This record gives sequence, structure tokens and C-alpha cells, in this order.
Amino acid sequence: DPDKVFDKLTSVYDGDKKKTLENTLKKLIEAEKSRREFTANVTHELKTPLTSINGYAEMIASGLVKDGDVEKFSNIILSEGNRLLQMINEILQLSKYDSGYKDKMKKEELDLSEVAEEVTEDMIHYAKIEEINLSFEGEKALLNADRKMMYELATNLISNAIKYNLKGGSVYVKVKNKERSVTLSVADTGIGIKKEDQRRIFERFYMVNRSSNGTMGTGLGLSLVKYIVLNHNGSIDLKSEIGKGSTFIVELPKFVQ
Ligand code: ADP
Repeated sequence: DPDKVFDKLTSVYDGDKKKTLENTLKKLIEAEKSRREFTANVTHELKTPLTSINGYAEMIASGLVKDGDVEKFSNIILSEGNRLLQMINEILQLSKYDSGYKDKMKKEELDLSEVAEEVTEDMIHYAKIEEINLSFEGEKALLNADRKMMYELATNLISNAIKYNLKGGSVYVKVKNKERSVTLSVADTGIGIKKEDQRRIFERFYMVNRSSNGTMGTGLGLSLVKYIVLNHNGSIDLKSEIGKGSTFIVELPKFVQ
């Protein structure tokens, strides 16, 4: 029982030492609690697509499915399979981060504008398929950051802005300098996010709505984004209105020599 262990350990000390020990133990207990919760959620979340894959595969295997439905069911199996794969990749990424990735982060001097522009270019093809106008505007914005993480951050925000948009809609990616910081903003003219969901979407596995093309996500992308921002001493801000669109603004400290 963590509470008993807590009392026993903290009873040995008093004063400042007791406080320090209490704080450390509280953090450890919190971390352990969220680790257990995460494991329970992972198991549950992995089961959902797998159950649907097995269900549809079984129907096809039974030979009782109408010809026209075989293709439909196969497509569901394919997209749920892809979702499962993405979920596993993101879970592995999160658990890498959870197990002390902070010490292994490779921070270097880099231009956020260059990263965001590259990611935008990589996404042009995807945006075209979804019939979304995707544009980039930026100025050289130097920061001290882990390159891989910056790509991951931009990729997640831009792909969400495309995914939760409407046909014919737009996505504006902008990088700017401020006095002491640099900002990356990703604005879309998509479906928007309800006030009560705006904080919760950064939690692991939290999903609000299906994307415009009807496929489900994993609910993990923004929790990765939040992790990356916090580990670069930055902040993330969200402005959104239902039916109008959303703007995610990431602010990170500027590079200092
Ligand atoms: P995923 O997109 O895989 O579900 P995320 O963690 O990236 O996971 O996003 C969590 C939820 O936040 C999504 O399910 C979606 O409902 C909502 N969301 C994220 N970005 C946007 C956006 N640009 N516009 C509207 N909703 C969004």
C-alpha cells in the first residue's frame, strides 16, 4: 500500500528533509499510478480495432457475405489494421519518452521554419487527396531543440489540421520570431473543438470526433505534442470554435549562444 509506505518513510525525517522526501515520494506514486492507468488503457484501446478486424475477417471467411460487401469489409480491416499499427508506433514512442528519454534528447541549433516548411511539403500530397489548401509562411527562427521531436510536433499538428478539416478548407502554417521566443502556429478552417474538450484532447487516448473522411485516430498525437513542448520549456495554446476552425500555437524559447 503506497500510503503506508509513504507514512513509514516520511516518519523517519522531519523539517526540510521530510518535505523533500514527501515531494519525491508523491511524484513517484503519481508516476506509478499513471503508468498503471496507461497500461490498462493501452490494453483496452488495442482491443478495439483488433476486435473489429477479427469480426469482419470472420464474416468474410464464413463465405456468407454478399460479393459487394467483401470489398467494403476488406477496407475496414485494412484501415483498422493501419490504425492499430499507428497506435503501436505511438505507444512505443510514448513509452520511450516515459523511460527517461529526456536525458537522451539531442538538442541542437535549428531553424524551426525549415522544419515546418519541410513537413508542410511532405503533407501537400495528403492535403490534395483530402481537398485541403495547405500553405506555409515563415521566417528564419532559430531555437535549441531536438530535430526529430520538432518534426514529430509539426507532423502531428499539420496532419490533424488536414484530418479534422472540411473539403475545400484551408490550413495555414506559420513560423514567427518574437522577442525571446519563436512560434509555430497551425490554423485550420475545420470542424473546431468544443470548449469542454479543449483541455482534454492533450490527454492520452482522448478523442472527440472522427475525422472528415470518417476514419478514427488514436488519441495519442497531441499527448506526444504536449510532451515535446514541455520538454523544450515551451507552451502550447489552442483557440477553437465549433464549425469555424482551430489554431494551435506552440511557443518555444529562442536559441541563445
Ligand atoms: P487523433 O487525431 O489520433 O485522434 P490526437 O491526440 O492528435 O489524436 O487528437 C485528439 C483529438 O483532438 C482528436 O480525436 C480530435 O477529435 C481532436 N483534434 C485534434 N486536432 C484537431 C483539429 N485541428 N481540429 C479539430 N479537432 C482536432
